[in-house]
Amino acid sequence: MFVPVIGYAEVHHQRGKLPNFLWQEEPEIFCDFPGRIEPGTRDFPVVISVKDAHLYPVFIVEVTLKFLFPRTKHEEPLFKGKMLVNKPLKQLLFESPCPAAFTGEVPVAVEVRYFIGGREKVITNHNYRKIRHELWMTRFAEESRPLFPGWFAGDIHWHSSLSSDDVEYGMDAELVRSPASAMGLHFIAVTDHSYDLDDLYQNHREKDQKLAKWADLQKSVDRVNQKSVDFTLVRGEEASLGNAGGRNIHALILGHRQFVPGSGDSAEVTFRNRPDNSLKAAREEGHFIIAAHPFEGAHLLPYLFLRRGTWSDEDLEHADGMEFYNGCRGKGYEKGKKKWIERLLKGQKIYTYGGSDAHGDFIRYFKIEIPFLKMGSSQDHLTGSVQTHVQCRKTPNEAILLENLKKGHCYVTDGPALTLEVKGSPETGMGDTVEAAQGVILTAKALSTAEYGAFRRVALIGGKRDGTGEAILKEEFGGGFTAALEGEADTRLQYVRIEAETETGKIAFSNPLFFA
Ligand SMILES: [Zn+2]
Ligand SMILES: [Zn+2]
Repeated sequence: MFVPVIGYAEVHHQRGKLPNFLWQEEPEIFCDFPGRIEPGTRDFPVVISVKDAHLYPVFIVEVTLKFLFPRTKHEEPLFKGKMLVNKPLKQLLFESPCPAAFTGEVPVAVEVRYFIGGREKVITNHNYRKIRHELWMTRFAEESRPLFPGWFAGDIHWHSSLSSDDVEYGMDAELVRSPASAMGLHFIAVTDHSYDLDDLYQNHREKDQKLAKWADLQKSVDRVNQKSVDFTLVRGEEASLGNAGGRNIHALILGHRQFVPGSGDSAEVTFRNRPDNSLKAAREEGHFIIAAHPFEGAHLLPYLFLRRGTWSDEDLEHADGMEFYNGCRGKGYEKGKKKWIERLLKGQKIYTYGGSDAHGDFIRYFKIEIPFLKMGSSQDHLTGSVQTHVQCRKTPNEAILLENLKKGHCYVTDGPALTLEVKGSPETGMGDTVEAAQGVILTAKALSTAEYGAFRRVALIGGKRDGTGEAILKEEFGGGFTAALEGEADTRLQYVRIEAETETGKIAFSNPLFFA
């Protein structure tokens, strides 16, 4: 599969007689931890992944967490002993007290001492030969993530260790709560690929009639949700479905317990890439469907080899929402946002959602840029880099989050917080519909912190009822960390929405409040 992939990178992969220059005579070891820690977090989480130790067993004897302050070194022992690791994938969560009263950025080094084939080795953060070692920084935030009361922060596109194939793997869904909470997330939607969820654990080229991976995912989600009060996993999948043009597109499906199959672009069987399930069929089953990165996927190679396509207008009619802010803001984002507004102006109540598309990946993601040959490291698509903030009237659980996500009670952000409500009727806001009667006043607010930057622009935008375009209703420029705008309902508009941008380039945009 000649496509750059993201996630924890797999270097032990052999296809036919092709040499693999990335191969190393060791398991892959990767130490992951958050790049940002919310104030008040007690423990610093580290998740260590050891991959393919069934090929190369190791004894881990010591793990040490080091905060490399300029003058002092702060060390915490995480493990001492003799731990045999000899499984295809072992992931370990360690927690250790955060450095007291420290705010700001500090390089973090996790040192792992282990024995392999009788030799002793020590590595820092990872052992990938082809990736340059650099300092990995964590910010201990001075201020909490901007968020209005009654709002909850999450990532709606995230892959666990069940997404596992030739070139990538992710983090165990049962380990994610600790690092996610530490960075300020309240929920994560686990959306593994349908073409991975239907595979056997031992062999991702073979389908599992019993769907053990899917069943295990349901149990993992239930276990995490039973254990935690301030963090929720939302069950889901990223289904590969056939679009109207017979090409494979990705759809985030959330909140269902019955697996939706789809393996057209799995690359599991060479030269077979026709969709084996369709968007239309999934729609008819009544699923909650979000178009995943709707305009990324039609690059030449995926187009040819995986029969990937993009979401057409006809396809988008079968979607409840669009996730065009998928980890980064490139052409796909621009195109997606334009299309979203176009659909809104045509009268479709289609919501927007944001996610990272991370595969584990808190501090860095490693990617195989060219199979067998070249690797790289990047900070796009890190967990929580793009978020969906959901308004919930009560402390959310999975059902409450889903209900509010489905109603569009949410906005997309990589920094600032938003809120939008009808004055005198605070339970009516984003995603809702009101009568555009005279005297209906709307209040929009935006909030940022020094970490995310002061506002450059906050705007209240209206979509014209005749569908000819949008108009800026109110706009505020400059300087502050808070902004408040008021507007009046107008029968010439079909909706209003709010957008904000900070001086550091962070953005947020809300779902519309519709006028009947
Ligand atoms: Zn995808
Ligand atoms: Zn994905």
